[in-house]
Amino acid sequence: MVEKQVKVWFLRGLNRWNSGFNTRKMPWKGEKDPYKIWLSEIILQQTRVEQGWAYYLRFIQAYPTVQDLSQAPDNDVFKLWEGLGYYSRCRNLLHTARIIAHDHGGVFPSTREGLLALKGIGSYTAAAIGSFAFGLPLAVVDGNVHRVLSRVFGINDPVDTPKGKKRMEVLAHALLDAKNPAGHNQAMMDLGATVCVPRNPHCAQCPFSKNCVAFTTHTIARFPVKSKKTKVRERYFYYLIVEHKHRMLVRQRKQGDVWPQLHEFLLRETDEPADQHEVLQPLFWGVKLSKANWQLIDASEPIVHVLSHQRINARIVHIRLSRSIRVNGYEWMDAAQITQLAFPRLITRYRQSQ
Ligand code: SF4
Repeated sequence: MVEKQVKVWFLRGLNRWNSGFNTRKMPWKGEKDPYKIWLSEIILQQTRVEQGWAYYLRFIQAYPTVQDLSQAPDNDVFKLWEGLGYYSRCRNLLHTARIIAHDHGGVFPSTREGLLALKGIGSYTAAAIGSFAFGLPLAVVDGNVHRVLSRVFGINDPVDTPKGKKRMEVLAHALLDAKNPAGHNQAMMDLGATVCVPRNPHCAQCPFSKNCVAFTTHTIARFPVKSKKTKVRERYFYYLIVEHKHRMLVRQRKQGDVWPQLHEFLLRETDEPADQHEVLQPLFWGVKLSKANWQLIDASEPIVHVLSHQRINARIVHIRLSRSIRVNGYEWMDAAQITQLAFPRLITRYRQSQ
């Protein structure tokens, strides 16, 4: 698929840039421990490096080995993950840590097939662990690599189709420096993250600009090609923080919806936006209270929280009661208990702003 002279040109350019101009630093760069590589890769899925950096360091400090992570209580790990979002990653992280600790004697598989058999590890993560930790000749194809290759070679297959993904994997593999897969993969990702960035790439600093299809034909904005827009579902969440004698009503969310296993305050979800005055009345929440028994502490402005396929439109209302109430499915918790629990980021942010 790739002529020999094209590969030689490509690798020469990449190596020249990497050894002379690549100054990107990350705590996991050059790491050989498969546990730490895996942890960094799972954290970085759908998370920016700047944000993931601190989480990575906290996880490594709290759980230096996969055995340490495997023995941690679920709630502690969710609490440490709090704010990163996409909690299925955290669940898979725990599940896989326990499988490795119990079924593999604490040792990561060192083959692509062995890595792919683990929950939460797809072909991208398997290539990253395989090449960085074990020197396997596997090409990593993340969003950065996809962008670089689609622009340099003018690939028109959409990135979000199986055909487009397959074509990119084949191309990346054909270009891989099999003698140094770890260094090659890291350089490709670094080039995409620092030079061939999504908007206004720094083509003057790019080793491929002379022959880059997108640059030489002034079509950079066209690449990478995408086939369709994701349909976003609008949802309306109204949270009531019910406080009585320094305790609050809390429940754990169930599986099968956003934020499974995280905790939340009294929730009412509606199909349409609710009236802004109505949400200040206890009846809206299905709670019977006379005016003398409750006091409004705060009502947030509308909050918009965007997930990959959903947009959560939320408001949070905080009231204080002079008498206790019961609400099915919720329990009273004090501040010390609540501090130990993981909540969705929109709730944590609201509480931190108070
Ligand atoms: S020349 Fe520009 S568009 Fe082409 S790969 Fe380099 S940075 Fe990206």
